[in-house]
Amino acid sequence: MITISVKQPWAYLLCSGIKPIENRTWKLPERYKGQTILIHASGNAMTWQHTLAYIQSLDNSKEILDLFIKNNFNGEWLRSLHVSAIIGSVVFTDCVINHQSEWADKTHMAKLGEYELPSCLYPPYKPIYNWVASAPILFDKPIAAKGKLSFWDFPNIKSEKDEDGKDVCCCHLGIDEKYQVLSYGGGDYRCKYCGGKWYK
Ligand SMILES: [Zn+2]
Repeated sequence: MITISVKQPWAYLLCSGIKPIENRTWKLPERYKGQTILIHASGNAMTWQHTLAYIQSLDNSKEILDLFIKNNFNGEWLRSLHVSAIIGSVVFTDCVINHQSEWADKTHMAKLGEYELPSCLYPPYKPIYNWVASAPILFDKPIAAKGKLSFWDFPNIKSEKDEDGKDVCCCHLGIDEKYQVLSYGGGDYRCKYCGGKWYK
């Protein structure tokens, strides 16, 4: 499945649904909109100092800092997060600039006559794209993997269509059923990793 590498703690915060925005200097490619994307936590995490400095640079940092205090997110917590592993998945549903979320890195606008335009239109600034994430899933057992730049394929997690057009799990993971399978009731089981149907 298609995977993207994200530094910790952002990878964890995305997959746990706390941070519904991924900020990038490039647009989310149209073909990846609306599909499940695996989140790989890069080998290099942010330092605690850089994490705090980044949050303070956001327009509404207070809400986020309060949330960190409430959840006991601190340097020790950051060091406890998995790195060099696929830790979960999200679906990116949209890509915008200046999303209203407190997690959205804003692109500042400038006046040009009667028009308001992103100040990034003047060099050397660039817009920040806010990728909107939904359907977060945090895996109970992360899968060790080396990261790559941009989007990349992790072949061991995948589903394939059966004759009825339903996605069926075709993962090659060797993970305990206890962690891999989600029950939707009525005998409907799904693989937590690929989202495909699972036959018990
Ligand atoms: Zn699967």
